[in-house]
Amino acid sequence: MMDESLRELYQEVILDHSRHPRHFGVLADANHVGEGHNPLCGDRVKVYLHVGAGDKIDDISFEGKGCAISQASASMMTDLVKGRSIAEAEKLMGGFLHLVKGEDASAIGADDREHLDVMAGVQAFPMRVKCATLAWHTMKSALEGGNPAKSE
Ligand code: ZN
Repeated sequence: MMDESLRELYQEVILDHSRHPRHFGVLADANHVGEGHNPLCGDRVKVYLHVGAGDKIDDISFEGKGCAISQASASMMTDLVKGRSIAEAEKLMGGFLHLVKGEDASAIGADDREHLDVMAGVQAFPMRVKCATLAWHTMKSALEGGNPAKSE
């Protein structure tokens, strides 16, 4: 059962990213990999990053399954952080976490805000906040965790 505002939220979010996720799939030369799970909703996300010189995120991809919010948020995240430094990505994550909780998100630059505002609607649905933030937390743990498990 969905009320009107939730339906609108879904529509906005899934329109593009959920149907046509960006950067979806395994990143063969990833040097950071992380996996995240949101047991409340059943969402799963795996994030692959290739971090190069100057701590720059040269490439990023994700795999996952779960609700539209979780997958669209992952897709959007890969779009936004590719080409940025780790520090910039973490700053953006901090702003995003504020945004989806309905807190002060003024740290997010105007260009990024335009993209991320689509997700701001989840603040009205506390259960959905974890869906929206799953990919970001997974990226952070991938960056902190360092080496991926060596594939045979
Ligand atoms: Zn979810």
